[in-house]
Amino acid sequence: MQGYLKCLDCGEEYPVKQDLITCPKCGGLLEIILEPPKGFTFSSLRGKGVWRYKDLIAGEYKRIVTLNEGNTPLIKSSNYENAYFKFEGANPTGSFKDRGMTVAISSAVSLGYKVVVAASTGNTAASAAAYASRAGLKSYIVLPKGKVAIGKLAQSILYGATILEVDGSFDIAMSSVMKLYKELKIVYPLNSFNPWRLEGQKTIAFEIYEDIGVPDNVIVPVGNAGNIYAIWKGFTELKSAGIIDRTPRMIGVQAEGASPIARAFEKGLDKPEFVDTPETVATAIRIGKPVNWKKAIKAIKNSRGFAISVSDNEILDAQRQLARREGIGAEPASAAAYAGFLKLVNEKRLDTNEKTVMILTGHALKDPEAMAKSEAKRILVNPEHIDKVVLGEL
Ligand SMILES: *Cc1c(COP(=O)(O)O)cnc(C)c1O
Ligand SMILES: [Zn+2]
Repeated sequence: MQGYLKCLDCGEEYPVKQDLITCPKCGGLLEIILEPPKGFTFSSLRGKGVWRYKDLIAGEYKRIVTLNEGNTPLIKSSNYENAYFKFEGANPTGSFKDRGMTVAISSAVSLGYKVVVAASTGNTAASAAAYASRAGLKSYIVLPKGKVAIGKLAQSILYGATILEVDGSFDIAMSSVMKLYKELKIVYPLNSFNPWRLEGQKTIAFEIYEDIGVPDNVIVPVGNAGNIYAIWKGFTELKSAGIIDRTPRMIGVQAEGASPIARAFEKGLDKPEFVDTPETVATAIRIGKPVNWKKAIKAIKNSRGFAISVSDNEILDAQRQLARREGIGAEPASAAAYAGFLKLVNEKRLDTNEKTVMILTGHALKDPEAMAKSEAKRILVNPEHIDKVVLGEL
């Protein structure tokens, strides 16, 4: 595949070399700029999931480490005619992180690494631990102590990662990983500043395209801000291959207590003001210094999109509505996409005649405590009178 790497900070360009993760000159974020193969068509593709799109993924893979991730359902809303939910909770470890992890771990193995590391609010940890185990690699996970949803922590334990806990927020965990990566060259970093991970995540766009063509809007919950860029990158590459003639508007949603990118858009700033102590029930997007903010702003601006924030109440309410009106269980960070949709529809900033896809990034089971906050009728019954109780309840 034709292409090159370009540093978003200093502008330096490099050939597409898989062992480059950050800019060798300045340490900045690298973009993988690709020209899809000439004459590429979807009709020639075989298989399902992320590796169906191998011809569109940069890099060479001696060994592919996969759990058959991707190929997630695009579920039509039963309440809004033109709305769809891309249910990434159906991935092998329950979040979209698996799409990037299969590519990053396959890269690590192909390059000969034996040890991987990731900072995480939880889902990257679960995914990294699973794929590292499958590949036979040792994994170190850096977590903000006490701030990780129990389902995600339990997964990392089950898959056998070594868990390093730091006092403080995710952002501190992330800077610890940066330090580890820069000082010990033997560890392969699995966070989304690693552009190879985003190569896997961009396949969300390809699957949406194969299901319904190009939507008008794609709404994405934003934490470290890699995914919104990755999805935009996927659509952009289809456009440069001449397969589609426009890209969807990318709409980012953040939680009010962790909304540096949304605030930058609201205030018309070129760069976000970072948040020192991010707070939200949506732990997967409780991030104050999104490492990929430059990529996200590029994707949002280039697609004529924008970013908004929603409150924790709006998030939990959207989580319940998704479950109770659509039958879909998504974790709070994912429900933020639906909360954003409802808010935009309510404020008439989104036209419901337009085709909109919401990315439901992770499964409800990830965070049982958040689910259990919903109210439900629970009645202690005497089995002998259960019929009367039910009749009385109808
Ligand atoms: C990682 C994650 C996000 C945020 O994705 P970014 O690429 O960091 O913006 C959102 N929701 C869930 C469930 C996640 O695991
Ligand atoms: Zn640079």
